[in-house]
Amino acid sequence: MSIRKLNAREYLVNLVAVTALMPVYGRREHAARPALDAFALRRARDMAVLAGTRVPVYRERYAAAGVDPRAIASWEDFRRLPLMDKATIREGWPARSVAEGSNLDNCILSTSSGSSGMVMTIPHLGDRMWPYLISGQRMLRWATGDRYPFWYRQAYVYTSEYPLLRVPGFYPMTFIPTAADPERLLDQLEQLKPHLLHTYPTVLRDLIALAPERMAALRLRGCSVGSELSTQAERDSWAAVLGIRVCDEYSSEELGRIASQCPEGRYHLHEDVVFTETVDDDGQPTTGVGEVVGTEFHNRTMPFVRYRQGDLARIINEGCPCGRHTRLLVDLVGRRNDGFLLRDGRRLPAGFLLDVAYRAILGDPDLVTAYRFVQRDPDTAVFEVVPGTSWRESSASAVVASLTAELPSSLTVSVAEVAEIPRSAGGKRQTVVRAF
Ligand SMILES: [Zn+2]
Repeated sequence: MSIRKLNAREYLVNLVAVTALMPVYGRREHAARPALDAFALRRARDMAVLAGTRVPVYRERYAAAGVDPRAIASWEDFRRLPLMDKATIREGWPARSVAEGSNLDNCILSTSSGSSGMVMTIPHLGDRMWPYLISGQRMLRWATGDRYPFWYRQAYVYTSEYPLLRVPGFYPMTFIPTAADPERLLDQLEQLKPHLLHTYPTVLRDLIALAPERMAALRLRGCSVGSELSTQAERDSWAAVLGIRVCDEYSSEELGRIASQCPEGRYHLHEDVVFTETVDDDGQPTTGVGEVVGTEFHNRTMPFVRYRQGDLARIINEGCPCGRHTRLLVDLVGRRNDGFLLRDGRRLPAGFLLDVAYRAILGDPDLVTAYRFVQRDPDTAVFEVVPGTSWRESSASAVVASLTAELPSSLTVSVAEVAEIPRSAGGKRQTVVRAF
């Protein structure tokens, strides 16, 4: 993802919008269900009308299905809109998937391969970056236990910098590229003394494996991880080292911030930013685990309406001790196409494999400093480990025994000691890989 800077006018518009609307979005977190629903339905309908009238890929699909977004008066009506998929939007770029009359010169173009490997360019109006900034601040505020004063320093350890609204002394943030090795990264963090750390789970795993006492000595007030899958058990183990909760978030390039963990550790949907549904294999709404489908409320250049995100999760509507009434995302098990694929066609989701892998090394934080679970063919998988200080010759067989006990017997598992786990050019690292 490479992104241009905001120009002066865009900067000003975003600054005014963030200042004026941050309190509004903050209050809306605590709104009652009917108000949340009414707001989301109004916004979802607006985006559907825009897509259905000005974006050819949607207009044709809606016409073929005989639905008119302008007639939407309820969620039942909204759910009659056909689903949209990545391949169609990507093939339509730019003329057929961008709203007619848009001027791409006014946009910030973000290009992302995503985990599906399909490259897609997404334009965002430069003066409408504020919704992303507000939802980002919300995510970090939850990660600090609802206490995020504007003077907290944030260390943002990522592959690339986001278009930023930098106001000196106001939510100060320092970007540190992941390309640095963990030792250098830790040095930089010790110099910066951040209150807040936002990074990839694999980076945090490296840092804590390298020097848990130095990480604890940073005395972070908040820690947030995202972009890659991590398990609650592993985040809890990092939290024990850091002395604070480690919060996860769930977002995508297309839909923005879909959900993030509140101070109670539940994944609340950001229902005023994106309307999220789950559908079954036939594309029908489901209350069980289903594919995540989202409607984003702010990108009026390239709308995403009932867009198939490809991840599997379940949505429930029950209260949370934090007092927010937004629906909760549970059982987020990763992307439909991620994870292992067995010879009989069964799939083992990446989230499940991460849990199994974590349990195999649990109990000894010094056993391995990094790991990766790789399936090279339908019958075999290799658990790659970078041995830690307490790794012994017998450790491999103990890890194999633990993995084998939890995985289908048709899968043969072995352990391989490696010097390091490679990162992609962008600095991301996959912990579960299917290499065939
Ligand atoms: Zn909550």
